[in-house]
Amino acid sequence: SSLLDAYRCQHEITVTGEDIPAPYTTFESTEFPSEILREVHHAGFSAPTPIQAQSWPIALSGRDIVAIAKTGSGKTLGYLLPGFIHIKHLRNNSRMGPTVLVLSPTRELATQIQEEAVKFGRSSRISSACLYGGAPKGPQLRDMDRGVDVVVATPGRLNDILEMKRVSLRQVTYLVLDEADRMLDMGFEPQIRKIVNEIPPRRQTLMFTATWPKEVRKIAADLLVNPVQVNIGNIDT
Ligand code: ADP
Ligand code: MG
Repeated sequence: SSLLDAYRCQHEITVTGEDIPAPYTTFESTEFPSEILREVHHAGFSAPTPIQAQSWPIALSGRDIVAIAKTGSGKTLGYLLPGFIHIKHLRNNSRMGPTVLVLSPTRELATQIQEEAVKFGRSSRISSACLYGGAPKGPQLRDMDRGVDVVVATPGRLNDILEMKRVSLRQVTYLVLDEADRMLDMGFEPQIRKIVNEIPPRRQTLMFTATWPKEVRKIAADLLVNPVQVNIGNIDT
């Protein structure tokens, strides 16, 4: 409708792809369960950020997505909240392995994502764990033994733990590549491909990035199926 076009225009949202769902301009229009809505109100958020408004309906529809938006635009909840709904629908026994996997370039960023997952997932009974290098493996291995719904990991440490056969990615059906541009800049592409080979192809893949250079386009073309692309602000290449 023209109202939605006006919303997209005002917030500089550009979308490409087939059958793109309308943005959720308010939290009330998201149809998120009440426990999640309570958390966002509790956090003091008044409205979805533009990347959330447009990414949520796409992610909830099960589509692959490329989301390009600058740092600080709220990308984390852009993929985490639909991930929680995904988990709720599957009701997988998390002891068999995580359903949602988020790859992140650094320990610091992975930790921040995990904190967001704990804060916003607690009332939905979502369990999560974080895997990163430069720290003892013991507690991380115990988290894998316990079983969690969401794993947030840096590629190097996740591969170490995969080689030890202490986690299985066979149950992962929602894969997020966060800060994809940075992960490629840091040389993680072979590690990412190794990890993706452990995940069954029948999955939803979400790529979040601040920039959209050739290398990122290439890996998106390899790993995503018929994605919807969402840009916020200038389309920078
Ligand atoms: P990005 O990953 O795009 O850099 P983050 O997901 O880290 O951004 O979010 C940046 C900040 O915005 C965080 O402190 C987060 O809690 C906050 N935030 C997320 N969504 C909203 C919202 N809808 N309204 C207000 N603040 C939000
Ligand atoms: Mg981020």
